[in-house]
Amino acid sequence: MSFSGPNKYPTASAQALKDKPGVRETVISATNIANKKRSAAYQQIDSDMWRNWGRDVKSHVLTNLDRYLEQAEEQLLANGAKVHWAETAHDALGLLEKIVSDHGIGSAVKAKSMLSEELGVNEHLEELGVHVRETDLGEYIIQLLGDRPSHIVGPAMHLSLEDCQRLFHEKFGTPLDGRPEILAAAAREALREEFLAADLGISGCNFLIAETGTVALIENEGNIRLSTSLPRIHVALVGIEKIVPCLEDVSGLIQLTSRAATGQPIGNFISLIQGPKRDDEIDGPEEVHVILVDNGRTRLLADDKAWEALRCVRCGACLNICPVYRQTGGHPYGWTYSGPIGAIIAPGMLGIKEAMPLPYASSLCGACVDVCPVRIPITELLLHWRERAVEEGLTPGIESAGIKAYTKAAERPGIFRAAAAVLRHLPLNAVGRALPILRGWVKERSAPASSSKSFMRQWKDGIK
Ligand code: SF4
Repeated sequence: MSFSGPNKYPTASAQALKDKPGVRETVISATNIANKKRSAAYQQIDSDMWRNWGRDVKSHVLTNLDRYLEQAEEQLLANGAKVHWAETAHDALGLLEKIVSDHGIGSAVKAKSMLSEELGVNEHLEELGVHVRETDLGEYIIQLLGDRPSHIVGPAMHLSLEDCQRLFHEKFGTPLDGRPEILAAAAREALREEFLAADLGISGCNFLIAETGTVALIENEGNIRLSTSLPRIHVALVGIEKIVPCLEDVSGLIQLTSRAATGQPIGNFISLIQGPKRDDEIDGPEEVHVILVDNGRTRLLADDKAWEALRCVRCGACLNICPVYRQTGGHPYGWTYSGPIGAIIAPGMLGIKEAMPLPYASSLCGACVDVCPVRIPITELLLHWRERAVEEGLTPGIESAGIKAYTKAAERPGIFRAAAAVLRHLPLNAVGRALPILRGWVKERSAPASSSKSFMRQWKDGIK
């Protein structure tokens, strides 16, 4: 999905709460479960030590990215895979188009991949006349609805069981009160045909191991394994930040990611893809293509602070814990990556102007920092982008004028005291009316009445 900017987060989130009030309840309930599981899974290990280690491995790779990318390419080629480089989404889609036309592809199955959402793969394949089917259950539901994922791990998190029961009743005739197992069985049966008929399997990549040229994928449903082994052609879309040096690193990072994402010690299925089927092997694709995608990542890497966001393993833990994300789910963010991680990578990948006001979609409570498995300093990066927005004159004029007026008043004690004396005697909503910059802030808040004495006066008198 391409970014349609300028971002409409404030109006879109208000609209979402109005139009779909049930989403808040559904998202809060789902994220509560995810948070409980993650917390229990972290407690089973020395999570501080593991998270420090995860941070260090990913930082090491990002500061030596050129070397590891070259090593990965060399090893992939040695394994018999074909390697392509895409600087932009347009380049990546062009490469995919060439593979489709070279191999006469008529149908494709897709494993869950946020990068493919970022690039707009489904829309492009459909324009080419390729039938494309999502195979992750959540993604499949979203596709049947013509909807978009709202969470990087649980794409259908905004939907209730009743929403899914209605959909499956309409599409497959399952009972309106069908249990989740019945819905899953109906999806499995429909998808089996798609797997068997597909010419092309498309996957993302959780980690690309430079030392061995291995694409590592984590999943729980088995659909990734089928998508990458049944069709005759496999295309793996890989963001260039997904590199890790060696297999030992991946064994740790897979466990850390699983604990953070779903509270499991490890995902149900781990696929390590080494290249196309060999002569003595029964299963596997005839060709494996790895498309290494930049699409704004080197721009983010070049930022001396925000580069740390590229450590992200897309576990979704920061979304689950975020008090802002939990109100509306991901759709109002207007981009593939929502929640705290979306707010810190959008300005770097798309440009601060296009991403505004996402860095402000946070209370800066820091809960996301406490759960991130690779210790991305999310709140620091939100402030970094807010500073950049101010420097570039992207904040509302009224805000800059208000801050300037405050600075002037604060530099003149007489004026400051006189203004404070007036404001102290006004109720909070009257202050909001007097100072338009605070209007939004006081709209939803109440406060105790101010003291009739200033803090300085009380200080001098001795605070009681
Ligand atoms: S920023 Fe951290 S917590 Fe959020 S998705 Fe990325 S790795 Fe997970």
